[in-house]
Amino acid sequence: MTQPNSLAERVQRIEGYDPKALPVVVAQEIIEASMQPVTQVEQVALTAALGRVLAQDIISPIDVPAHDNSAMDGYALRSSDLAAETDTVLTVVGTAFAGDATCPAVGNGQCLRIMTGAVMPAGCDTVVPQELVHALQGGSITLTAGTVAAGDNRRLQGEDLRRGVPALTQGRRLRPADLGLIASLGIATVPVFRKVKVAYFSTGDELRSLGEQLDPSNVYDANRYTLLGMLSRLGCELVDLGLVPDEPTALQAAFARGCEKADAIITSGGVSVGQADHTKHVMASMGDVLFWTIAMRPGRPLAFGHLHHGGRSTPVFGLPGNPVAVMVTFYFLVRTALQHCEGEMGSALPYVRALCTQSIRKKPGRTEYQRAWLGADASGQPIVRITGAQGSGILSSMAAANAMIVLEHAREDVSAGELVDVVIFDGLV
Ligand code: AMP
Ligand code: MG
Repeated sequence: MTQPNSLAERVQRIEGYDPKALPVVVAQEIIEASMQPVTQVEQVALTAALGRVLAQDIISPIDVPAHDNSAMDGYALRSSDLAAETDTVLTVVGTAFAGDATCPAVGNGQCLRIMTGAVMPAGCDTVVPQELVHALQGGSITLTAGTVAAGDNRRLQGEDLRRGVPALTQGRRLRPADLGLIASLGIATVPVFRKVKVAYFSTGDELRSLGEQLDPSNVYDANRYTLLGMLSRLGCELVDLGLVPDEPTALQAAFARGCEKADAIITSGGVSVGQADHTKHVMASMGDVLFWTIAMRPGRPLAFGHLHHGGRSTPVFGLPGNPVAVMVTFYFLVRTALQHCEGEMGSALPYVRALCTQSIRKKPGRTEYQRAWLGADASGQPIVRITGAQGSGILSSMAAANAMIVLEHAREDVSAGELVDVVIFDGLV
């Protein structure tokens, strides 16, 4: 029964809505708008916070650095002592090391030998690196005019982080620099959203699990392993429901377990248009699920909606069965939705423009994703080529890729030498 405000009702209001040729961007919008972010917050040790999503702003309790300090090993001086056109001679009154609580006072015509990180003496505003001065007999130095300008080589109190100001904001997925930054504030635990639990299973009577005998009509279940990898990278908690036979009672039981144990369910296989698989029927009977043909390649069939079970409404993604189609639909339709669920903000994929070294056939009216290798030519210009056969079942060309070329909806054939959008798989952080 269609409930008021059901997904089916809501999508009807979208102008030009066509479930048989749904543009990727429209599918992305419908899916994201139907996902609820988690609200539960947990405190975790900073050492366990990598990849977690911040649930509150981190307000800096201190200035970092806490004092003006030296950025170089050298001599701290008063810039007012620097002669504009002649050599300046200054008397060295002592030495300041990083960590020293006090240092000698520095008067006019004087300077202090100072190490990197040591607190600047009162009155001094500039550091001259030691290699730029001449040490003289009797404990003084000389430097030629123009060697340093006022304020050089001095780090200012609070120049990194200011007390009372958000150092990091809610919704940020913590990266290595963030861990160091939080540590620099003296903070040992951080509030993060709880992990999103995702249940997943494979369907298809031809599939076999690892360790099982493979008959000529069988294939090993690959999708649960790519899903494991992709979900782990997103920091989700995994609920592996295994390989489920294409049989209504078993499927119903698996979906019910998914609803009980997880925040979202992902299946692969059995959602193609017009096939006799039970997955579709069971999904439809358990909730508010739409069956789409997405205007994309690879991908195309996709089921999305909510299952109603045990008083809860659980989002469900029925991905296609072909292994590359699973990955592409996950990356471009499921990933952002799960990030939204995790409370992450501003997580749009970065694209680079690269010169395509070969021609690619492309039909306008669908988004096409090509497995590719991004490199650089002799002059450093980014170039990209396809990694091999692009059939939606061919995982080897996906494994050989370090990027995907994204040929947008309206685009036509690509000629060698044209610029294309590329999403890179691996980043530094
Ligand atoms: P389907 O969408 O169920 O028609 O599946 C499309 C193709 O993907 C078929 O060739 C299936 O054998 C294959 N396939 C489905 N699920 C998996 C899986 N978990 N691992 C590997 N191949 C699969
Ligand atoms: Mg199947």
